[in-house]
Amino acid sequence: MTKNFQPKILQPNGWAFLDWITGVVRINRSSSDYFSLREKTLKSDNITLKQDEALLLETVTHESFHYLQICTSAYLYNLVRRLHDALSKHLIQHPILTYENLASWQMTSLREEFQFHTSILNIAGPEGLTPLHILEAAAFYMQKRYHLRNLTPAQYQDERAGECVEYTLAYDVAVSILGENTAFTVFPLFAAMSFWTSKPVETFVGLCQRFAAVDVINRGRVDFHQLLTEVSPHVLGRPALHPPTLDIRLFDQTIRSLDALYAAHRLDLYVVMAQPHRHLDGPLVDVVSPAIIFNDKPGNILVTTPDHFWPNHPRDEKHLSGARAKLMTQVIRLFELSMQIQVA
Ligand SMILES: [Zn+2]
Repeated sequence: MTKNFQPKILQPNGWAFLDWITGVVRINRSSSDYFSLREKTLKSDNITLKQDEALLLETVTHESFHYLQICTSAYLYNLVRRLHDALSKHLIQHPILTYENLASWQMTSLREEFQFHTSILNIAGPEGLTPLHILEAAAFYMQKRYHLRNLTPAQYQDERAGECVEYTLAYDVAVSILGENTAFTVFPLFAAMSFWTSKPVETFVGLCQRFAAVDVINRGRVDFHQLLTEVSPHVLGRPALHPPTLDIRLFDQTIRSLDALYAAHRLDLYVVMAQPHRHLDGPLVDVVSPAIIFNDKPGNILVTTPDHFWPNHPRDEKHLSGARAKLMTQVIRLFELSMQIQVA
């Protein structure tokens, strides 16, 4: 990194987000804040956290869950691929030769292409829902259920009070069709299943309606895969890997590791997504941990890269001073200069 380059790692008011192309999560707190807090909570269940401490833990869970959503859904992963391929092609036509060169980098046509691809997340379907509403409501559900043990449906309603529509609308729709208790139980699975198809919103509403029509006494025997094929004629399932054009796709490494777990019958996505808050600490914990960039000091950042990423790559080269980590921060910088493809 040249001495004049000051990476602006987060937007001034941003708490956190996932970068869709690199798969890197950025957290607007120091790594020591997070890791010391995490250690404290792992040692004991009975710790009273301050509001901002709880928010920090929930935020890392929320963003990590977005990463899991993409790695387990062909619909979302294909979007990442389109963004990634657009960037790759653009980089060939407009190479970035130095870090300083970034400021004047030709961005306009790329920005338009990104907007074109990501617009699918904001197209409203039945009940006024968009794919983004479902994506965000599922991540919000996850952060609350993972950190607030023994949460009840009524307590969850309280947690949602005052939150933005992206975090609440999809769950509200599920409650209006299924009632509060059933919605609380099936929401994470139906949200996940909807992204295993080409039409998430239609699928999500269809799953809720079809399940509501099943007699209560028979609901425990429902075959959810069968239900999905009845509701959606376009089941896409899990991501299929394609040769990357730039070697920065952390997603691919995770998807490859997940494929190995499926092949060994150690992972059933229907089981995991029915109660993701119970499974994040199991065999998934290493596989689905994203790389995270923390803000340590002004102008000083830390990239935590899990060991399973680039396992054959020397450890020191995974450090920020390594060429790949430099490329990673470089690409992230592009997004700060563009429209920011992030899910907050
Ligand atoms: Zn989010």
